[in-house]
This record gives sequence, C-alpha cells and structure tokens, in this order.
Amino acid sequence: MTDFLFPAPAPTAVPVVGDQRRFPVHRIYCVGRNFAEHAREMGTEVSRGSPVFFMKPADALVVPGDPIPYPPQTNDLHHEVELVVALGRDANGIVAVDQADSLIFGYGVGLDLTRRDLQAQAKEKRLPWDTAKGFDHSAPMSELVPADGVSDLGSRRLWLEVNGTLRQQALLSEMVFGVAEVLHELSKLYALKAGDLVFMGTPAGVAALHRGDAFRAGIDGLGEFAGQIQ
Ligand code: MN
Repeated sequence: MTDFLFPAPAPTAVPVVGDQRRFPVHRIYCVGRNFAEHAREMGTEVSRGSPVFFMKPADALVVPGDPIPYPPQTNDLHHEVELVVALGRDANGIVAVDQADSLIFGYGVGLDLTRRDLQAQAKEKRLPWDTAKGFDHSAPMSELVPADGVSDLGSRRLWLEVNGTLRQQALLSEMVFGVAEVLHELSKLYALKAGDLVFMGTPAGVAALHRGDAFRAGIDGLGEFAGQIQ
C-alpha cells in the first residue's frame, strides 16, 4: 500500500436516484456555445465545425444541499443551466457516434457558474478562461438519474428559475451538438473514463446571481434541484 505524505482527498461523489451508492467524479468537461441563441447573446456565432470545450476541476462540484458561496474576485457571477451527462464506462479510444450511448451512466442538471467579468477580460486579451470557469464551487448539480429509465431526451425542457422567475429555458433538441456528437468529439481529445461528467452547454438568458438568490433548475420529467447563493 502506498504511503501518502498527507491524507489523499476523497473523490467528489454525486448521489444517484434509487441507489445508495454514489457516482465518483473523475473529470468535469464543459461544452461552450451549444445553443445558437446563447452564442448570439454572447456576441458570437456557433461554429458547426467543432464544439468549444473547457474543464472544471472535479472538486468544483457542489452536490444538492451543500453551500454555494458567492465566489471571490467577481462582481458579475452568472448562471448557466445545463444538461449534465455522466459516464459509467471507460471509452476505448475514439468513440463512434452510434456507440456513444453505451458509455452513459445517467443524466442530471447543473449550473456552469461563471465569473462573467473575468471571462470578458480573458476574451478581450485572448487569454484562457480558467479563472472565469474553473473556480471553487462553480459546478452545483442535481442527483443523477440512471439512463436506463430515460428516453427521448430531446423533447425535454431544460429550465432555470431565480427567485421564482423563469430565467432560462430550451428544449434539449435545440442543442447544436447532441450528446453522442459531443462524446465523439471529446474522445478525440481526451481519454474518456467512467466518472467523467459533461456539462452540455446553456441556452439563452444567462444573467447575474447575487448573494441570497434562490434558484430552481430542472429538466422536465427527469429531475430538478434547488439552492441558494450564500
Ligand atoms: Mn456553460
């Protein structure tokens, strides 16, 4: 047995509906610009060529019930509600589009919290997005729902309410790159593993969250979760 210099951190783990066991998180991948209306509101256009990817650290994940502190070094924290896809198997190299479903363990809904002011500065200077996207507590999400009970994902509505007001909503069929396509493209760049989560991109309506704001996020017929910014 390996001796560590100090205790190794336990993996971040997501509760699973109908299962006592938790889903241990390996990596968090995120897709940018996956809804045309959101790309437009950010002053850009969707490229059909290949999706935009970035990552968050696995320990940025926040499970339901855990606190979500307002992050430091921003005055413009934004919500981005997203479908989250959880992988239950390792990929063996590049994943064919028609094989991608076999990797999926389940689905959830999450927030890709964003320090929009830092992202705008980074874009302006052509610098990376890490401080805007990959900060502590930047990935709150729901419990996971096993995929075997989920059909017809595209017809479901993804939505977010803040303080009881609807802020974002879209059908999942409006995603520019579907789940299978995203897993195919990601697998060209990274070795996909059991435990990976993919935040699939947000629809239009992103806006600021303030201390004390209460939100509810959901996907119709799949699940929802609620939280408050501290
Ligand atoms: Mn996003």
